[in-house]
Order: sequence, then C-alpha cells, then structure tokens
Amino acid sequence: MAQVRTIAVIGAGIMGRGIAHAAAIGGYRTILEDLLPTALRRAESEIRANLDKAVELGKVLAPEADSAFRRLEYAGSVEEAAREADLVIEAVPEEMESKIEIFTLLDKICRPTTILASNTSSLSVTEIASVTYRAKKCVGMHFFNPVHKMKLLEVVRALETDEDTLSTVVEVGKRMGKEVVVIRESPGFITSRINAMIGNEAFHMLQEGIASAVDIDKALKLGLNHPMGPFELVDLVGLDTRLNILEYLHKSLGEKYRPAPLLVQYVKAGRLGRKSGRGVYEYPEAATAEKTNAPARNTGSRAEIVR
Ligand code: NAD
Repeated sequence: MAQVRTIAVIGAGIMGRGIAHAAAIGGYRTILEDLLPTALRRAESEIRANLDKAVELGKVLAPEADSAFRRLEYAGSVEEAAREADLVIEAVPEEMESKIEIFTLLDKICRPTTILASNTSSLSVTEIASVTYRAKKCVGMHFFNPVHKMKLLEVVRALETDEDTLSTVVEVGKRMGKEVVVIRESPGFITSRINAMIGNEAFHMLQEGIASAVDIDKALKLGLNHPMGPFELVDLVGLDTRLNILEYLHKSLGEKYRPAPLLVQYVKAGRLGRKSGRGVYEYPEAATAEKTNAPARNTGSRAEIVR
C-alpha cells in the first residue's frame, strides 16, 4: 500500500470543501485549489465554521479542530496544489471535458507514483483515466454531500485500477472517517443511479401536478423513511449536477433516465438549488451571500415554495 501524507483537492465547490475538511481531520496535509479565488475564501470560512460546529456538538475536540485547520493550505494553480501530492482528488463540475482537462494536466505535473482520484458522481473513471499514462493509479472516490457529515465513500474500480491503488484509497477513506464500499465501474455507481431515478420521478410528478413539492417531500420522508425529500436533496446537490448525471445515464443506460422537462427548464432558468439561492425552493440568505461574496451558510432556510 502506498504512503499518503499530502492530499490535493482540485475544485473548492460544495464537494471539494467538504473533502478537504475530511482530509484535514484525517491527519493529512491538505491543499485545496480552485479557478476562483472567491471559492477558496468561501471554502476556508465554511470549513472553519463547520469545524467550530463540530467542537460545539462535542464531535471533535477543540485542539483537533485547530490542528485540522492548520493542515489546510490554499493554492492558486493546479500545479502548485498537486506537485507534492501523494493523492489528488478532483472535484470540478460534472463534465467529461473538464475532468479530462484536469487529468491530462495532473498526469504531466504529478510524480509517477501519485494516485489520481475523481469524485465524479456518474462519469466513467476508465474514460477519464484513458487520457493519462497511469490508468492503474486512477480511481473513483465518490463522497457524499455534506462530506463532513456523510458516512459513505464509494470507491470505484475502473478497468485498469490496480490493487495497490484500491487498498490505498480505501485506507485513506477510513482515516477520513468513512465507511467504504468498493464497486466495479458502472454508470452512476450504486447511489447516483438509484437517486437520479427517484429525483427524476419526483420532477415528473411535480410537472404533472400530482402533488406540491412540499407534499412529495413529506410523503417520501414520512411514508418511506427517507431522511430528506427528493426536492430538498436536489436543492442541496445542485439541479445542474443532477441534470448532468441524468443526461449521462440517459446516454449510457437508456430511455428510462431521460431528464424530466421541468428539471431541464429550472436549470435553464438558473434555479440551481441552495448554491444559487433558488432551486425547487428559495434560499434568500444564500442568494444574498452569493451576491456579496460573503460565506453562505449551508443551512439556508426554506422560505417560499415555488413550482
Ligand atoms: P460545484 O459547482 O459546487 O464546484 C465545482 C468547483 O470547481 C467550483 O468552485 C469551480 O470554480 C471549480 N472549477 C471549475 N473548473 C475548474 C478547474 N479547471 N480547476 C479548478 N477548479 C475548477 O460542484 P460540486 O457539487 O462540488 O461537484 C463537484 C464534483 O463532485 C462533480 O463531479 C459532482 O458530480 C460530484 N459530486 C457532487 C455531489 C453533490 O451533492 N453536489 C455529490 C457527490 C459528488
């Protein structure tokens, strides 16, 4: 098993920040990078707030939280972030072109022993790995949102991933406090494939006027014991991210994954969920924070119900 001391995280959006938080708590020197300096500033303040909350709730001791915060570094370029990393975890948007661009660059600048992981929710890690000269050292590490709270990590074995890479990232996942399942690559893995179907069906129901968004959410929570309703969840995940996943599943697995027209329309309207202040529901606090570039809280309250 390879030794991992330094982890670089590329992309400091919803997932990148959470992955960096979990890596730092796991004891790794963690370097976070994003194209946008504002995303890095927001990541830093959000991680600090989440660590403080964990201390308040008694989940982490204050000195542990402070050490984790000190283990975090912020880089202005992929080169700066990744050149000393033993493991790089990519968390840029769910588009094959972006992933390929990042992996091509990483393959050039990282040491030959560095493991390259993607946090993709659905895309083929085999295809991403094919642009590198180290397909054996490429793997999927699919974390869940919010990363600092969610226990699961799906480790995705691509066609060429070797045993050493698999056992190394499984160990890293455990040190980050996660329960790990290893799966053979297939579009959407386990969770995204099932979740995309449920979420898409909910948009069809809303579009058909079968029930309100609140009632559909209520039915799944109280009747099926889901911890969140499908619309609460898609607002957290991001409607654009969900649409990208469905489009990929539709292309690779067939007709039953065709995205619901209402979801497509919401994304076209810029209703992307909590991160944009409006998705299926409205989050006025997040919208204000986005405008002023201030750190937005991840717990924006649901204000107005919109269809
Ligand atoms: P996001 O839009 O919140 O963040 C993406 C970040 O990447 C942005 O800050 C953007 O500025 C940055 N970025 C874009 N291009 C870049 C580049 N070339 N170099 C560096 N940074 C770049 O997206 P997200 O929700 O964090 O999703 C990231 C990945 O994680 C996607 O593959 C997604 O499918 C996956 N994922 C998302 C969730 C979720 O709930 N949102 C859950 C599991 C996995």
